[in-house]
Amino acid sequence: MATNLHQFAKKNGVKYFFVSFVDLFGVLRSKLVPATAIDEIQSEGAGFAGFATWLDMSPADSDMFGMPDGDSVIQLPWNKEIAWVASDLYMDGKPVETSPRIALKRQIEKAAKKNLYMKSGVECEFFLVNEDGTSLSDQRDTQAKPCYDSSALMRRYDVITEICDSMISLGWKPYQNDHEDANGQFEMNWDFSDCLVTADRHAFFKFMVKSIAEKHSLRATFMPKPFTNLTGNGCHCHISIWDKSGKKNMFLDKKDELGLSKTGYNFLGGIMESADKMAAVFNPTVNSYKRINGSVTTSGATWSPSSITWAGNNRTHMVRVPGAGRFELRLMDGATNPYLLQAGILLLGLDGLNNKRDPGKRLDINMYTEGHKAGKVKKLPLNLLDAIRDFDKSKIIRAGFGDDLVNSYVKLKNQDWGTFNKHLSSWERETTLDC
Ligand SMILES: [Mg+2]
Repeated sequence: MATNLHQFAKKNGVKYFFVSFVDLFGVLRSKLVPATAIDEIQSEGAGFAGFATWLDMSPADSDMFGMPDGDSVIQLPWNKEIAWVASDLYMDGKPVETSPRIALKRQIEKAAKKNLYMKSGVECEFFLVNEDGTSLSDQRDTQAKPCYDSSALMRRYDVITEICDSMISLGWKPYQNDHEDANGQFEMNWDFSDCLVTADRHAFFKFMVKSIAEKHSLRATFMPKPFTNLTGNGCHCHISIWDKSGKKNMFLDKKDELGLSKTGYNFLGGIMESADKMAAVFNPTVNSYKRINGSVTTSGATWSPSSITWAGNNRTHMVRVPGAGRFELRLMDGATNPYLLQAGILLLGLDGLNNKRDPGKRLDINMYTEGHKAGKVKKLPLNLLDAIRDFDKSKIIRAGFGDDLVNSYVKLKNQDWGTFNKHLSSWERETTLDC
């Protein structure tokens, strides 16, 4: 039985619910529902006009209903009168197959048929910036190598600890917070979970960080590359597959040199096969490609991949195996859709398992300085347009996500590219005016 939201409100003093969903562009959308009406909304759904969001719908379409998933409910730690709840979208009595949370549930169902369950954890990096996002909020944060800078972290102690205390109160088991490798950049880590729970928490985390930063008169951004000379915002994901009991890690093989089982290597093989094709999901914005193809930053490294390679405990590759029984995919950035991120990984991993894909040889070189020694390796797309075309053409992704989702995503992302292309940059003027 899913959590009864009416009872939840009574027990916890909640006056309003944010009945929320995330659209294809990762925008978190909500209706603010009074607790006095939540019983009806939990059984009938909250009505939305789909066309008004990024879901590729028409103004003539029927009402879309967000059916709250009671088990996802989170009371806002910074305003306990309100509780957030994720919802699944329905139209004309059927699930909306182009909606990201449903897309993730479809992949989870496919894995469950094989008695496999993905657990994951995400590392959502963000910057604290000024009001219009053009400079850092902390003008004294200027070290060339600012990672783990104690003083800069101390100057943001109030906001970071309010977020961390919130995660403790929610039972997410946060375990570390740091100043990251770029000036003004932070990362906060909490425990891994079932991938749907991680996706819900990821969506909520972004909302929470932005809200608490605003409360402190700051602005938080997850933009992939807000400053060209600084390290970008990654969203690395640690992945493992478990059996139904949730106690047996199917990726673990203690006899293997890296501690990965055949299941782990085949799953990784699926990621290696199609990571470039899924980049449109993992790196979904024009700006994303300034992170994964960025030049060396003032700190000395981009910490992001440009090629499809994997390694042991070596952060210069797209995939790192940091310890037995799991691996880390370092491709995704802060703009990635929390649900499509998990769905995309699971889709590629299942393709790897179904086709027993071989991830190829692992590389132990420093990819940032010795990339020329890597031999023939696939490169990631150089821009969003190439990524959309790769995504569109992938038979594996079409088979996994279905034509409806792929066609809608490609259509909306092509519009996105078209809008970008209408803008003239100052660089174009500077270099072309006198041609
Ligand atoms: Mg990091």
